[in-house]
Amino acid sequence: MNDDMRRPGAAAPPTIPARDKAVYIRGAWHTGCGDKPLEAVDPSSGKVFADIAPASAKQVSLAGQAAAEAFSEWRSLSGAARAGHLRGFSDGLRARKDELVALQMRNNGKPRSEAMIDVDDAAAAFDYYAALAADLDGRQGGGFMLADPGLADPGLAGRTYFEPLGPAALIVPWNFPLVTTAWKLAPALAAGCTAVLKPSEFTTLAELVYGDLADETGLPAGVLNILPGAGAIGAALVADPGIAKVSFTGSNATGRQVMAGASERTLPLSLELGGKSPIIVLDDADVEKAAEIAAAGIFFNCGQMCSATSRLLVADSIADDVIAVLRAKTRRMVVDSPDNPHAEMGPITTEAQRAKILTYFLKARVDGLKCLEGGVARTEADGFFVEPTLYLDVPFHHPIWREEIFGPVLAIARFSDEAEAVALANDTEFGLAAAIVGGDPDHAQRLARQVVAGHIWINTPQIIFPNTSWGGFKASGIGRELGPHGLAAYSAVKHLTVATRQEAKHA
Ligand code: NAD
Repeated sequence: MNDDMRRPGAAAPPTIPARDKAVYIRGAWHTGCGDKPLEAVDPSSGKVFADIAPASAKQVSLAGQAAAEAFSEWRSLSGAARAGHLRGFSDGLRARKDELVALQMRNNGKPRSEAMIDVDDAAAAFDYYAALAADLDGRQGGGFMLADPGLADPGLAGRTYFEPLGPAALIVPWNFPLVTTAWKLAPALAAGCTAVLKPSEFTTLAELVYGDLADETGLPAGVLNILPGAGAIGAALVADPGIAKVSFTGSNATGRQVMAGASERTLPLSLELGGKSPIIVLDDADVEKAAEIAAAGIFFNCGQMCSATSRLLVADSIADDVIAVLRAKTRRMVVDSPDNPHAEMGPITTEAQRAKILTYFLKARVDGLKCLEGGVARTEADGFFVEPTLYLDVPFHHPIWREEIFGPVLAIARFSDEAEAVALANDTEFGLAAAIVGGDPDHAQRLARQVVAGHIWINTPQIIFPNTSWGGFKASGIGRELGPHGLAAYSAVKHLTVATRQEAKHA
């Protein structure tokens, strides 16, 4: 579909930032000096609708320098002053909601309702960390007496400060561009770090809004810098001497490279990586609710979620009923361009990602897996569409059961006792998220304690609040985002031990 053929009532075309407005360094926009333009593709049509000049290696170095030079001014501001800027970001995101929704519908293929959630979630993160930044002032220098239990008072007191780590490299993927960035940028700025953002080469356009918001809130020049580019720009950023902290979200393969790069200078590192998360449906679960939560957990954002619950473990006694409802829901799903206001699932965001999903479909056919629904691309539409897909009784060694597919593909298995369900849930290299659906919430919570995952939803779809925590066990990453943990990821504790009596002075 081209622009002229968009449906009546379809979203207005998004505003495309000018080409000379791509690289943001030291509070000013520059033309990217990198070689190969990045293409913004509409995944509903497969057509390029904008190109972006990426940053060059020299611009990486300028951005690193700018972030390093801005650090001492930014860190010396009070938390309350930094909070004012953060609120400017959340206000600005909300003021541009329509524009950002349109851009994400076009560039990510997100249905309108999902694109709207992204803007709201990004704004909520800035509000939350504004409050934490303001609160930080009262926590700085907190004092306490030092003593060993049972020993005489040594006349010493302790004090604790939370110091920002320095200029932070923020490297993000394409599936929730505004949100993933907000979960890094907001706590980094709140803690007193400056930042260099490297958006995904596939979804750069929406991310450029953060430069506009920096201008609008009067953020001191150099506190935020943005470098569009592909992986090489990310690697150069990690290696840049100006950078003192790395926060990366993306695939495990890239995460390992980032970890190797960060290890060269022993940089503090946060990694948010992949998942193969389980959803356990217990025998006392409400069938309709279980099917609804299972469908949302794998079809939201076309399954392109690190937290997608892509392995359904359902109790034998209700398995047939849950599977029947799930199949009916899957068949009814409206899969179409976000221009269709009834679309519940859009296209896969990138052609490469769709190709990857199709290789799993092929493997499933070759290996004779039982495909209940989908398992094919949508050939009648242009663009990168695939059918929402269910496989039943997938062998536990099969790649469809074990590997992160990052698409709307659910592998289903039945279990006869809960210990077996927990063992199967935990039999994975990942440990990012999980869901449990059951009639007795207390029992489900007790079971959750046995599941190795950083975030577990019980009887609810995947809603994420900024004051929770985000991150995984095992190969799903290192560290936590969101909540106070997110702020701690950009700070280090400084402790003072202070003599409180004159006579404690050295003789
Ligand atoms: P990716 O690893 O290909 O790319 C992520 C980012 O890293 C991009 O900006 C990319 O340009 C950059 N990059 C690539 N090579 C680099 C290098 N050598 N050094 C530094 N940066 C480099 O991931 P993707 O395909 O964009 O995203 C999908 C993956 O992200 C999935 O595996 C998914 O599970 C994961 N993810 C995890 C979370 C989480 O919170 N745990 C959230 C979203 C996505």
